Amino acid sequence: MYSQHNIELEVSKGDIANQPELDVVVNAANAELAPGGGVAGAIHKAAGHGLYKECKPLAPIYPGEAVITNAYKLPNKKIIHCLGPVYGKDKPEKELLASCYRNSLKIAESNHLNSIGFPGISTGIFGFPADLAVEVVFNTVLAELPHLEHLKKIKFVVFNDKDLHLYESKLKTISTD
Ligand code: ADP
Repeated sequence: MYSQHNIELEVSKGDIANQPELDVVVNAANAELAPGGGVAGAIHKAAGHGLYKECKPLAPIYPGEAVITNAYKLPNKKIIHCLGPVYGKDKPEKELLASCYRNSLKIAESNHLNSIGFPGISTGIFGFPADLAVEVVFNTVLAELPHLEHLKKIKFVVFNDKDLHLYESKLKTISTD
């Protein structure tokens, strides 16, 4: 367990659609906020059709943007939907990916949520190299920690052992309190 500024940082391998202890989970959404493959498919399937009904009028969203909805049948209070950049297409890709994480944290804060789970936004179908993404994720999240008041736990939910090791080795390098 790692903590900085009194906020727990954790990584675990699992399904972002099955994280009952978290107030909010982040969806690696598509612009239409529709069900699809990967994370968006898992979240919409678990949440049920009510989710897409709420999402539809909020779309389209743009790379780096995030919106919040109810969680329906997901075991969380809310879902934040974020559109990551398509690697090699949406530029500047690192800045857009950073905006995803920053905007998600800001929305969680303004909704007084205490814990949040992130998948590896853009690292699936959108093709962002995982090692590059992890650098962006940590730079962005660590820079936001001093500004967070309500959030007490940030969990990175990864889907394979390679990403688990990437996040674990990054967590080991941060100074803890
Ligand atoms: P994007 O379109 O933003 O690249 P994807 O959903 O394709 O998003 O994938 C994002 C990352 O999430 C990938 O690393 C993928 O392996 C992982 N992933 C896919 N399904 C799940 C899931 N159910 N829970 C957590 N991570 C997942």
